[in-house]
Amino acid sequence: MKNHDLPSYLSKDNLGPWEIFLEQIDRVIPYLGNLAYWAESLKRPKRILIVDVPIHLDDGSVAHFEGYRVHHNTSRGPGKGGVRFHQDVNLSEVMALSAWMTIKNAAVGLPYGGAKGGIRVDPRTLSSGELERLTRRYTTEIGLLIGPDKDIPAPDVNTNPQVMAWMMDTYSMNMGRTSTGVVTGKPVALGGSLGRSDATGRGVFVTASEAMQRRGLRLEGARVAVQGFGNVGSTAARIFSDHGAKVVAIQDITGTIYAENGIDPRAALKATEHGGKLGATPGVSEIGSADFWSVPCDVLIPAALERQITSENAGKIQAKIVVEGANGPTTPAADDILADQGTLVVPDVLANAGGVTVSYFEWVQDFSSYYWTEDEINARLDRLMREAFTALWEVSERHGVTLRTAAYIVACTRVLEARALRGLYP
Ligand code: NAD
Repeated sequence: MKNHDLPSYLSKDNLGPWEIFLEQIDRVIPYLGNLAYWAESLKRPKRILIVDVPIHLDDGSVAHFEGYRVHHNTSRGPGKGGVRFHQDVNLSEVMALSAWMTIKNAAVGLPYGGAKGGIRVDPRTLSSGELERLTRRYTTEIGLLIGPDKDIPAPDVNTNPQVMAWMMDTYSMNMGRTSTGVVTGKPVALGGSLGRSDATGRGVFVTASEAMQRRGLRLEGARVAVQGFGNVGSTAARIFSDHGAKVVAIQDITGTIYAENGIDPRAALKATEHGGKLGATPGVSEIGSADFWSVPCDVLIPAALERQITSENAGKIQAKIVVEGANGPTTPAADDILADQGTLVVPDVLANAGGVTVSYFEWVQDFSSYYWTEDEINARLDRLMREAFTALWEVSERHGVTLRTAAYIVACTRVLEARALRGLYP
């Protein structure tokens, strides 16, 4: 396909995480055979909605926030992807996150396209009432795009089951009927799935243990370092610790802690409750934030934000395996450094797919109004993640490529095959 001039919103000035995604696509094109003809369609989001979100603050004034919802690709099914509330949210980031959802959903075989949304806001500065009004107005503004068979949002950074409940209620009020399947990651009382809150961290653990097995590493006594101690990082740390691994370092926005004999993740979680700091965890020492990357460990789990492992710090990483809980934590240049030094990277589109997988289970349960037990959910999740890992591992061995490239080969092939079969309308 001919590469015409790029739309203005894809200009060089607007690049960032999106540029990383473009580079990842360029790396996989040589493996796509005839489907490479359609690859240009992956380099352009299908649609982008930018919305103004005005709300009354508690002091009676009006504040305006910038919101986004991007559909990257819907060739294989409705859009699916989280909503992020963060002061640094911008279009490039949301575009990249939506594109990584396309790849992730296809890589693990879920019947979805890729979407993502967000609001440029620091939610810590808002009261609960302001946060609710922000969520409801944003949901109404993006109501054009979302729906149980169109685009199904879910939690991401700084959004949680309560935010999903407000989104579900707002959409339902606007439609005049209760629509549980419009968002996932809801509270269980509103059609949420058992096991959803642990699902991403659990998937990180499952894929990490598959990788460890292939590298001859035992879980018992393995040293683990975790960056980001929210939904994903804290759950992964807890499950690793419960399986006999030692969580030797944790970093979050409040600091970096280290303990040679292992940190108790439950104690660290308690310390960070109600705005507390990681440093208040008993029996740990605080270290400098840059020192986190050189901590001697077997498994390193970036589970905070994108672009954390760069050419600056990749060379310092001593871990044998990096398991990407976060989306886009490793730049392509850092990826090359890690590959050269023999570090196995379990890429985000595989490692953190547990969340969207159980979101898929939630959506299916909402449609059928029949709910599975937590054991059933976890067993299905574990099986799907282990099978996806094995399939991608085989592709990586066959082509002699990294697991990330293998995931992109499988995902892009699935997406572009659907694209080619559907053809262009009109
Ligand atoms: P969260 O809001 O629950 O936690 C984010 C954590 O990152 C917090 O502990 C915060 O202190 C920390 N953090 C933020 N900035 C940091 C910085 N500069 N340095 C160190 N730590 C920092 O978010 P989450 O839901 O756990 O998501 C984390 C990552 O995982 C994101 O990249 C998200 O897109 C990805 N992810 C989340 C899910 C999910 O189900 N929640 C699913 C797939 C991927």
